[in-house]
Amino acid sequence: MEFAKKRKVDQENRHFKTDWAERYCFFLPDHANAKPTCLICMQNVAVIKSDNLKRHFTSIHAASFNANYSEKSDQRTQKIAGLLASYKHSVSTMSKTTSAQESATAASLHVSWTLAKARKPFADAELIKRCAIDMAREVLNPDEKQQKKVVELLKQVPLSANTATRRVEVLAEECFSSLLTDLKKTEAISLAIDSSCDRTDMEQLSVFVRFFDGKIFREELLCLLTLPGRTTGEIIFHELTLFFEKNGLNVSQIVSVVTDGAPSMVGKHKGLERFESSPKISGDILLFLRQPFSVSADGQWTGEAKRLVTSIEEGALQMEVLEMGSSELLKAQHKDAPMCDFWINVVPQARFKNTRAIAMFLLTMFPSTYICESGFSSMNAIKSQDRNRLSSAHLGQCLRIATTEYKPDIRQVASSRRSHFSH
Ligand SMILES: [Zn+2]
Repeated sequence: MEFAKKRKVDQENRHFKTDWAERYCFFLPDHANAKPTCLICMQNVAVIKSDNLKRHFTSIHAASFNANYSEKSDQRTQKIAGLLASYKHSVSTMSKTTSAQESATAASLHVSWTLAKARKPFADAELIKRCAIDMAREVLNPDEKQQKKVVELLKQVPLSANTATRRVEVLAEECFSSLLTDLKKTEAISLAIDSSCDRTDMEQLSVFVRFFDGKIFREELLCLLTLPGRTTGEIIFHELTLFFEKNGLNVSQIVSVVTDGAPSMVGKHKGLERFESSPKISGDILLFLRQPFSVSADGQWTGEAKRLVTSIEEGALQMEVLEMGSSELLKAQHKDAPMCDFWINVVPQARFKNTRAIAMFLLTMFPSTYICESGFSSMNAIKSQDRNRLSSAHLGQCLRIATTEYKPDIRQVASSRRSHFSH
């Protein structure tokens, strides 16, 4: 009983009393977890307790403040109201400046993103700024006041080549981190590796990854490796293993490696097949992928499926295959849908969990060559410009943005990376 009473008093004391402003010159700022703050010196005290405030005021300010503004006088009330008003003004000015800076950052992120997507040099950012200003001048010509305001704002958008370079770094990093998050959730991935030699004696390997993210198949640039001299399968194997370790990925997720494209890769392929955890797939299981209604549920292939995807329950898979075989609706839908669409959009996840798991695994194994080709044309476009000084790190970032299907939330990037952009 006594304890409960004491607690209640304690809690009441933790509420800021309005007359503390008058008595001790303290106020409580208007935000979560705010601490009582002294209006005279802006120091705060940790706990909302009358005694703490009183101690601060008495020991530091009381003598001079009480002499100038005696207790309960009108001058004191006015002085305190004045201190409070000037504090509120400084806070609102500060937050306006912050949001203006954030908007300018977001604007420059948008421009940098669009340039990188279009495979244009960073230096074009300056040009775009000039165009934007000229356009604003023309379209807002009738409204001089508005025109002046918009032009001033556009002039503040940081768009030097240097800035654009740093923006691209951040945006590529955002895409890469989305990719890593998705890759860590997926069971199976496949790689498509291509190499290109430029005039230097460096070899550039673009490594694309294919996986099912739960909704769609994604094909994304995993990394661009720049290796000196003539590379071998052994070297690539070693570099990729390091890359996987560094980024918390597991090489056992890799179900296939394709090294099409460059003929020089044929010899190098040796050594890379070590990555493939399950290179041998029987005809039965591939038939199931294409014609799920023409394989029998008790075939050897369900055992193979279990070995390929360990999370599968073989018994449940057999039941699902039987159910599938008796569904006239699925059979009809199968006739009309392309293979990928059928498995992703038609076969319901809830009823065919195991069937879908093996289908997604198999579909992951066949990367389209499109992404590599588009990767290469992007890389050539990026390199062909007058960008001799483009480092391989920057080339990788540009290539990532040019080929990615991820789209960072630019507003969010601008506000969450504020400290990053201020220097
Ligand atoms: Zn103080």
